[in-house]
Parts: sequence; C-alpha cells; structure tokens
Amino acid sequence: MKAVRLESIGSMTMRSVEKPVARQGELLIRVLAAGICGSDRHMYKGEYPTAIPVTMGHEFCGIVEEVGDEVAGFAGGELVTVDPNIACGRCHACTRGRVNLCESLTAIGVTRDGGFAEYATVPYRQAFTLPADLNPAHGAFCEPLACCLHAIDKAEVRPGDSVAILGGGVIGLLMVQLARMAGASQVILITRQLSRRQTALQVGATHAFDPAASDAVAAVRDVTHGGADVVIECAGVPDTLQGGLKMARRGGIFVLFGVTPAGIEVPVLPFDLLVSEVDIRPAYLNPFTHSRAAALVASRALELDMLVTKSVGLEEVAEVVGSAPLPGEIKVIVRP
Ligand SMILES: [Zn+2]
Ligand SMILES: [Zn+2]
Repeated sequence: MKAVRLESIGSMTMRSVEKPVARQGELLIRVLAAGICGSDRHMYKGEYPTAIPVTMGHEFCGIVEEVGDEVAGFAGGELVTVDPNIACGRCHACTRGRVNLCESLTAIGVTRDGGFAEYATVPYRQAFTLPADLNPAHGAFCEPLACCLHAIDKAEVRPGDSVAILGGGVIGLLMVQLARMAGASQVILITRQLSRRQTALQVGATHAFDPAASDAVAAVRDVTHGGADVVIECAGVPDTLQGGLKMARRGGIFVLFGVTPAGIEVPVLPFDLLVSEVDIRPAYLNPFTHSRAAALVASRALELDMLVTKSVGLEEVAEVVGSAPLPGEIKVIVRP
C-alpha cells in the first residue's frame, strides 16, 4: 500500500510499504479521508516530538476492513473516526481521569503509524462509529472538534455570554460554531485574513475584526461594553495572547488553546490579573470528548463544507505539509 512517511526532520515521502494486519485488539481501517493539521507542519519541522520514521496523519476516518482477535463492538464495514491519543490508563493522571495529561501518552500519526496511508491499524477502543452515509471528509473533523469541545467545556460558555475568539483557522471557525451553539449572544472572531472573517460571519460570528487594521482590544471591549465574558486564544502567538488577556471582562474566563512554540515567554501583568480575577484555563487535547465530537458531526449540526478549502491525494501530502499554509487555506483533506 501507499503511505506518506516522515523519514527525518524536513523529509517526507510517499512510498510503498507492507499493508498492515489487524493484530489482537486492533481494527484495520481503509482510510477514506484525513485532515492535514498545523501539528503535522510542526512535526515536519521538528518542533513537536514524533517517532521517526512514522506515517503521519492523526485526523482520519475510514471503513473497518478487518477486525482483530478480542475486539468488541465492531463487525467490519463500519465507518469510523479515530481518536489518535492513546492514554496508558494506569498512571497518576489517567487514574484521576485526566487522560490528556497521561505520562505515557502515545498517538496515532505521531508516535505510531497514522492515516496518511491507504490503510491504518488502530486499537479498537480508539474508534467511534459514524453514520454509514456521512461524508468521510466530515468524519476527519472529529479530532480537531474533540479538542475544541474540551476548550468549550473549560470556557463554561453560558447562554447570553459574549465570546471573543482569536485566530481564524479551522480551530477558530469551529470554536465560533460551538460558542454559538452554547448560547453565546456575541461571538467575535479576531483574525487578519479577510476570507476567514467572511467565513466566520457566515458560520455564526456576530462580529469579525482585523487586528492589523485597528485596535482589536478596544474593538472587543467596545462591542461587549467592557470585555468579553470568555476569550479563547487559538493562535498561539505571544501578541495575540497578551491582547486576548486584555479583551477579557473583569471576572472573565481566558482559555489558552493555541500552541505557542516551547520556550517562548510572554510578559503578563500579575497585578492586573489579580484585581480583575481573569481566570486563565489551558485546554489541551481531547479528554473523553471524541465520542461527543463524533455525535455532533453525525448530527450534521456543524458547517464543515465551508472549512474544506482543498482535497489532495497521498502524492501531494508532502508538498502541502512541507510548505506554509496558502492564503485562504483553512483545511486540506487527503483522500487516499
Ligand atoms: Zn490535528
Ligand atoms: Zn496514563
């Protein structure tokens, strides 16, 4: 079968490899759609630890083609989405229910072979069934959506709240929809790209501001009459993070979601945080949210077609991952 392998940092190639078989407790999945993610670009550049060589692709969906021994709940033929993050179940974090903080976390498409291939094997507990007639490209959104759900849970958005979202990529545009579903009265997206601001307004944002054109902090404080109840930082940029903290209302919640490169320091004003009691909450990965993401995608309640800006074959993956996102790009879907 064909697979796209990260051979070394900065070197990815499509090659023929042996088709895997479902071992004990595993499913063999024929991959129908896989999303290319910002994390894939970080892994390619060596900015995020991976096994090497490895077949990348951690956001995928496909058909169960083979069922290994000691698998429950699958007969073969199901359309499934895969939760790529495998917790050990035994460490301190896992036994306290904090599986995203597992001390021995492994991940499909990161530390073991993933979905940029014709076939992938996964532990059956990582797979969740989707409706057979669902567009597989939508199924590939379950993984980023599951991470967004964890952030929205942490944000505790209440009906009537104002929510400011920084960053207009696929994550920001999913957060806009989830904030709206949670009952937010104002959903404000802050991003530089015009096309992304337009998309945001079409999928439920009430306002979209360009931080390059005007003072986004002042604009958010103005429309919310004093600051947003909830701010969700999805850009991972120091300036955005600092600005986002100032967008939060006194007593507001600030969710840290964007991945800032390791080692980067961001100055904060502890006095201001103290007297405003802005509650900073990091949201990392997808603890127990993947099945809800699958249910939400299955319900077709989200606008996902507008977020797919390109579909490619396996032979184009290395080029897409190896270059910076093109202007206007939101999500590239791989169709093996
Ligand atoms: Zn991802
Ligand atoms: Zn663990």
